[in-house]
Amino acid sequence: MNEMPHCIGCGTQIQTEDPKAPGFAPASALEKEEIICKRCFRLKNYNELQPVALTDDDFLRILNGLGTQKGLIVKIVDIFDFNGSWLPGLHRFVGNNPVLLIANKVDLLPKSINPKKVVNWLRQEAKQLGLKPIDVLLVSAHKGTGIEEAMTKIEEYRRGEDVYVVGCTNVGKSTFINRIIKQATGQGDIITTSYFPGTTLDMIEIPLDDKKAIFDTPGIINHHQMAHYIDPSELKYIMPKKEIKPKTFQLNAEQTLFIGALARFDFIQGMRSNFTVHIANDLNIHRTKLENADELYATHKGELLAPPTKEFIEQLPELVRHEFSIKEGKTDIVFSGLGWITIQNPDVVIAAHAPAGVEVMVRPSLI
Ligand code: GDP
Repeated sequence: MNEMPHCIGCGTQIQTEDPKAPGFAPASALEKEEIICKRCFRLKNYNELQPVALTDDDFLRILNGLGTQKGLIVKIVDIFDFNGSWLPGLHRFVGNNPVLLIANKVDLLPKSINPKKVVNWLRQEAKQLGLKPIDVLLVSAHKGTGIEEAMTKIEEYRRGEDVYVVGCTNVGKSTFINRIIKQATGQGDIITTSYFPGTTLDMIEIPLDDKKAIFDTPGIINHHQMAHYIDPSELKYIMPKKEIKPKTFQLNAEQTLFIGALARFDFIQGMRSNFTVHIANDLNIHRTKLENADELYATHKGELLAPPTKEFIEQLPELVRHEFSIKEGKTDIVFSGLGWITIQNPDVVIAAHAPAGVEVMVRPSLI
């Protein structure tokens, strides 16, 4: 077979298989003399940035490149999936460059939250994970909340240097950058594509006034997120679109909650306690006795316990049990990409069950 041609915009090798991966073009485009990938096409014609995903190795190469450049790193995380979207190890690659941490999708958190507390929480967690950001901001790229401030801060912290925006797929990086482009420029052919030195990977370059630029780096896929184990047609059920309405359950020991067929939470031992579930509003929560839980799951997954529905339930990996002894109240049990359950009271033993491959974590309560 002939080697595939390269995109005339960004230089990435063209492929026709995966619309979300770099270099995608429809097969019909191969007949043309000059081939442009879908991402560059949209960028050129609509000034709109399309998300692309990279393999781990490619991403490591990009990260390695970052440390050798001078500039501000803007790291975007999804506040609804903080741990799942974190990009572990970034701090080891950034060299002496400052990192501005931006938590996106703040519109999903209940309105009653105190933004200052959330920012403090983010600072604490970042520190635990080895990163000392120069600042922490909350934004909603979707609604435009906090974007002005983010632009002002980026301008301040970049000190006349370039800006590199990094984040894993689905954190809303494209939405964020598109917002900035619109707000800063109105319309106009302001985006160019460029090679990143030392790699063959494309970066999108958005020129700034002073000959510097904002570079958009491709996103990395996070394999621990629930989204990778769900059929794309059912993703809409698990990804919240609106402010989440927390639901509190008062449970006795030996009671179980099912979140569809996707996750299971057993309260094993402890005094009668409150547990607050933070997941997409329409997801079905089913409460039962611990002693009946195994059988209920075996006989009713895909039906009473859904999503996934019958059609897709066989694709879901088996649930794996993780047991935790929780000493302090206000502790979150996180199901990566699905949401979290806040344990309100101290001294309980619980078990969280998630599909094999989906990460389950414990953290101090976000809200
Ligand atoms: P990327 O892969 O990081 O470039 O992410 P996208 O910009 O494509 O966004 C991923 C998904 O998150 C899309 O479904 C967006 O509509 C959604 N999204 C992006 N920003 C926000 C936000 O501020 N709030 C909410 N609720 N959803 C958002």
